[in-house]
Amino acid sequence: MFDACKRRYYYNYYGSWGGWGKTADPEPRLLYRLKKITTLPQLIGTVVHETIDRALNALKSGQELPVEVAEKSCLKAFDQRLQESERGDWKNNPSRATNLFEHYYDDPPTEAVLREIRPLIVQHIRTFYTSDLYTSFKALPAFAWLSQETLDSFTFGGYTIWVTLDLAVHQNDKLCIYDWKTGSERTPDKTQLAVYALYASKKFHTPLENLVLTDFYLKDQRLKPVAIDADTLEATGHFILESIESMQARLSNPTANIAEADQFPMTDHTTLCKTCPFKAACYPDTESEQAPRQESEQLTLNF
Ligand code: SF4
Repeated sequence: MFDACKRRYYYNYYGSWGGWGKTADPEPRLLYRLKKITTLPQLIGTVVHETIDRALNALKSGQELPVEVAEKSCLKAFDQRLQESERGDWKNNPSRATNLFEHYYDDPPTEAVLREIRPLIVQHIRTFYTSDLYTSFKALPAFAWLSQETLDSFTFGGYTIWVTLDLAVHQNDKLCIYDWKTGSERTPDKTQLAVYALYASKKFHTPLENLVLTDFYLKDQRLKPVAIDADTLEATGHFILESIESMQARLSNPTANIAEADQFPMTDHTTLCKTCPFKAACYPDTESEQAPRQESEQLTLNF
C-alpha cells in the first residue's frame, strides 16, 4: 500500500484513527468508513476463510462440520453481508457492518454476477473439503494445532511485526504453514509466506529445513509449496526494515508516531484511484478522478 500510494497509507493508518467514535470529527469519520470498505472478491475471501476456520475448529474438537452445512452457512454469511451493505448498516455500525465498494461507489453487482459467485463459493468450500490436505488434518492430534486465524506478533530489528496465519500445524515432523487463497496467484504471495517463515523462526525457533510453506489456491484446486531459502529470508528481512524506515522517514514525530497528510502525497498513477476505497476523500467529485483538487482543498470533505 505504501509503495502504491503514500496518501492511501496515511489515510489507512493515521487519518482514519479514532473515526469509529460517534463524536469523532467528520474527517476521521469519513476516512474510517472508507478504510472499512471491502470489495466483492474480498467478501468472498472473508466468508470462505471464516467457513474453513469453522471446519478446522470442528476437527480440532474431534468432530466434523459436514460439507453441506459448511456450504450453506458460507452462502448464508455471504448473503447476509451483501444485504447489510445494501441496507447501509455501516452508517450506524462502521466497524462491523459490511460496506461494499460496489455499493458505496454506486456500481452494485448485477443478479447475473451474483449467480456466478454463489457456485464459486460452493466450489471453494468443496475443493477444501475434498482435498488430501483436509483428510490429513483429521488425523492431527490436539497438540499439533499451533496457530489458526489468530493475530500474533514477533519482534524484528526492534520493530513489532503483526501476522495472522490461516493455519500452522505440526505435521510429519515439520512445522507446516498454510494460506488459503480465493483469488489468483500474485507476486506478493511468496513475500507473505517469507514473512511467515521469519515469524516461525522467531516465534517457534524453527529452522528453515523443518518448515513447509504452502499456498492453497482454491479456485484452481492447486496446492503450491513455496520454498524459502536463507537468501530469501534475509532479503525479506531487508525488505521489512527498508519499508519501515521509509515509512518512518515521513513521520513528523517518529517517537510519538505522529504523521501529517502533506508528507504522504497522492499517487500520480491515477488508474490506481479507480479501485481505491479512499477516492471519495481524494476526489469528492468522483467523476473527476484525473483532476485532483489542490492539496489545501482535499481534506475539506462533505458527508
Ligand atoms: S484515491 Fe488515489 S490518491 Fe487517493 S488515496 Fe487512493 S490511490 Fe491514493
